[in-house]
Amino acid sequence: MKIFVILILIKLAFAGTSLPPFYHTTDEVEAEVKNILKNCQMKATQKKYGIVDSITLKPKLDHENKNKAFLIFGEHARELISVETGLHLLNQICHTPLDFKLKIIINMNPTSRRYVERGHYCLRENLNGVDLNRNYGFEWKFKENHFVQDSSGPEPFSEVETQTVRDILSSFKPKTFITVHSGTLAILHPWAFKKEDVVFSHHHNLRGVKNECVDCLIGGAATQIGYTASGNSMDYAYGMAKVKRSYTLEIFEYEKQNQRKEPDSNFAEFLQHKEKEKSEISNKELFCFDYFNPRSEDQYNELVAKWSNIILQLIQ
Ligand SMILES: [Zn+2]
Repeated sequence: MKIFVILILIKLAFAGTSLPPFYHTTDEVEAEVKNILKNCQMKATQKKYGIVDSITLKPKLDHENKNKAFLIFGEHARELISVETGLHLLNQICHTPLDFKLKIIINMNPTSRRYVERGHYCLRENLNGVDLNRNYGFEWKFKENHFVQDSSGPEPFSEVETQTVRDILSSFKPKTFITVHSGTLAILHPWAFKKEDVVFSHHHNLRGVKNECVDCLIGGAATQIGYTASGNSMDYAYGMAKVKRSYTLEIFEYEKQNQRKEPDSNFAEFLQHKEKEKSEISNKELFCFDYFNPRSEDQYNELVAKWSNIILQLIQ
């Protein structure tokens, strides 16, 4: 009897994860961050704002460089690869330190991400049903559309996650702000709320990264993507918090990533595996995983390395 209960408990404990093994669950992200920071070549501290963890990195020695960057990953829970890229970048910076200060939120929507990790791969909003990237207090508009998960929340900054970003922007005053997403391939700058492009005074780094992503849309978010988005973090950082350079990166698009390659054996194997999983996770959920995240380990590794390098260039 006792063994039977133990077996059930073990099954329940493992029922939670349906991610490919090279992805990290939120618990694994937290453990990995601690591990990386233990041996970091920069002075590292962590602070918890409600449910959101923020990491501060400073050069170990006195530094002249007044540059500062603030990076956030995983605003939309189903875009798992964003958080994975944040983790890879943190590791890279801790091994090859920068000579200026950074603040990084690796996992911006942790409560929803835990659901995604259990197979709810289409979840974009937080668990209050708010799209965090429509909840910022700049050109905010009330919207309630849970069907496409595009809801603004009842008022600007109604959510602890966006309040955290607002407070860090106002106290830290970064020169560069970057939010990392997936679903298309793009390096975008304001505006997203209207179809008009701003011109940054420090645009040289943006020109430099064009060769790194030849398939990317590059330019003003609304003009490139074709639709407007009010109350988003990138526009808030630039328009209200007066950050000089503010970007939204879109780092994975299923079609573009795969069109030049033969389907690899890992993916074929996965498709077969899908058939077996059907009863537990719907096809719609599996489609969401593949729409926002690479399935093969090779693609995953290539992508987190490539985008970490692009981010490092953009924040210099
Ligand atoms: Zn997104």
